[in-house]
Amino acid sequence: MVNGKLFTEVHIGQNRAIARALTRRYTVALLLVAALSTAAWFSLRLVIAEQQSTAAIVNVSGRQRMLSQRTALFANLLAMTPPSGRPAIRSQLQEAIDLMERSHRGLTRGDSAMGLPASHSPTVHAMYFDGDGGVDAQVSQYIQAVRQLLALDDAALGTDNPLLLHITRTAPTTLVASLDGMVKQYQAEGEANVRRVQTTETALWLLTLILLALEAGLIFQPFAKHIKQVVGKLQTVTDELELHRNNLEELVRQRTAELQSKSAELAESMEKFRLISSAAQEAIVIIGKRAEVVHWNRAAEKLFGYSESEALGQDLHELIVPIPMRDLARAGYQKFEQTGEGIMIGRTIQATSLRKGGEEFPIELSISAIKLQNSWHALSIIRDVTERKAIEDTLRRSEEQLRFVLEGAELGFWDWNILTGEVFRNERWAEMLGYSHDEIQHTTQQWTDFVHPDDREQAWQSILDVIEGRSPAHKLEYRMLHKDGSIRWILDQAKVMQRDPAGYPVRMSGTHSDITERKRLEAELTRQARTDHLTGVSSRGYFLEQAEQELASALRYRNPLTVLMMDIDFFKQVNDIHGHKAGDTVLKKLADVCRETMREADIIGRLGGEEFAILLPQTDECRAIEAAERLKEALGKASVPIEGGMPLSFTVSIGAAALTNGDGSVDALLNRADQALYLAKESGRNRVCVAAGE
Ligand code: GH3
Ligand code: MG
Ligand code: MG
Repeated sequence: MVNGKLFTEVHIGQNRAIARALTRRYTVALLLVAALSTAAWFSLRLVIAEQQSTAAIVNVSGRQRMLSQRTALFANLLAMTPPSGRPAIRSQLQEAIDLMERSHRGLTRGDSAMGLPASHSPTVHAMYFDGDGGVDAQVSQYIQAVRQLLALDDAALGTDNPLLLHITRTAPTTLVASLDGMVKQYQAEGEANVRRVQTTETALWLLTLILLALEAGLIFQPFAKHIKQVVGKLQTVTDELELHRNNLEELVRQRTAELQSKSAELAESMEKFRLISSAAQEAIVIIGKRAEVVHWNRAAEKLFGYSESEALGQDLHELIVPIPMRDLARAGYQKFEQTGEGIMIGRTIQATSLRKGGEEFPIELSISAIKLQNSWHALSIIRDVTERKAIEDTLRRSEEQLRFVLEGAELGFWDWNILTGEVFRNERWAEMLGYSHDEIQHTTQQWTDFVHPDDREQAWQSILDVIEGRSPAHKLEYRMLHKDGSIRWILDQAKVMQRDPAGYPVRMSGTHSDITERKRLEAELTRQARTDHLTGVSSRGYFLEQAEQELASALRYRNPLTVLMMDIDFFKQVNDIHGHKAGDTVLKKLADVCRETMREADIIGRLGGEEFAILLPQTDECRAIEAAERLKEALGKASVPIEGGMPLSFTVSIGAAALTNGDGSVDALLNRADQALYLAKESGRNRVCVAAGE
């Protein structure tokens, strides 16, 4: 936009400069043409003046010729006519010679009345005045001769008068010849003048033509070029304008279409609102300025007993708010009108309302702020909760009874509203975890936080299984965190208590019982089952369980694994000689030495009687034999005190079997170790023997 404007301004500037330059050139050209025209006009005037004076000269000089002959004729007549007839001729001669003299003076000295110029060309001047025979002298002498003749009296006039003879002799000959010569000269000069002026005219004409050609070349050609450019630009601008106009039209079309669709949408949404409002089960009421009702649907008519026409324009507070509440409601609404905010806005509250007849009844009310025509309106959705109140009261009573029972049974109770996420819990629920009822939050998150992190997923899964219909009830033992940091085992049992019309659970209730005594006992029993009570090493069962795991791991990761079978030599004798108690002491000593000598990772088990087995994970045969020899040495050095006697020493025989490809089970491996042990016993005891590989 800005660039376009700049572009246009630059172009306007350029065009103005071009126009100024063209105007200057045009002015100069016009001035030149005007000057040339003026010059032509002056030259024409010159020609005309020249022609006029030439004509006058030729005319007058021609008349002189005629006058010379006429005077000669009258002079002769005067001499021949009798005296009585002379006065008339004399006056005619007088008149002719006067005219001739006047004309001669005009021709030689100029006479504006006759149109004769005062100056002459050098040739004319010479012909008039140069030498004795000049025309001026000839004419002057002739005129003088005629005047002298006229001055003579009748007596002196005779045909033989010398003056008359001179006149009649001169006039038709020399004088006429001289005057003819003058006429000829005047004519020749006149023609020369005309030719000169013609040349000048032609030159002016050519100059004008050149100037016109120059004008065409220097002014009209660039002018035409400029006009072409301007027309081109005009075309571009016109095209742009056309494009712009098209765009504008398109925009107008789009906007019009949008507006049409918007107004259609508006009409549709108004219609929808009208339909929804009239079909709604809840009363829908909208109030505007001064709490006046602007919308009152069919359900509102039914609920409050006022028809739409009765309610519209009325103050809602007057209509349906009980008198004790009106002032408060009005004050709240006044504030809302200005700010669009209020404590009731955006919430659902329980209140009491009035019907047309004055009957009070409980309602549930949700109010939203909406802006219509730039002013705040309150939209209320109101439902009659008389029946619900009654049901709720009954429910509350039965819940109180339930709580009483639960508390008597020392059970924690929880009641979860799945739709709102709110959870009701009793005192005992909190106490089990060391909290007071006030210290816990009534959310599902609170429960999640209390559940031991390792059990959370399983606990939620069990609840989800019930909600999503995969399981009829939730029953799970899991750990919860006590306020003092300890762990409590909880037995949680719950069921869906309420479903929506579609069958989806909306409420679930359950109980918590603290089973931590029980869990400890179970743990103790497990521990006992896993340990041989005399020696503290793994029991047979637990050893075999561990052996299974180690075997599986060794096979999966292709790690070596070796097992040792160990039996005390001649143990029967120990019992026989020193008593069973001493035998037990030997067994304990043996276990202690085993634990001291073997690695942490090695697993020691008592398989029965005085027979032990040791699992050596990630240990090949060679290293296992080293370890077995070391153990045999250590046991050989060990002894147990005997009452009133020397400390009792003992030896063991050990059979070792390393895991081979053929060993598919713990039994197979133990069997091979057993065979090696048998070999050790057979070959003298107190030694380590190795089972042959498969
Ligand atoms: P050898 O193994 O060298 O062949 O000779 P032995 O005398 O040790 O023979 P055997 O292994 O068969 O003897 C097992 C004896 O271990 C039998 C039993 O008296 C004794 N015994 C088994 N369990 C216990 C026990 O828990 N306490 C005591 N004190 N003795 C036990
Ligand atoms: Mg034995
Ligand atoms: Mg033995």
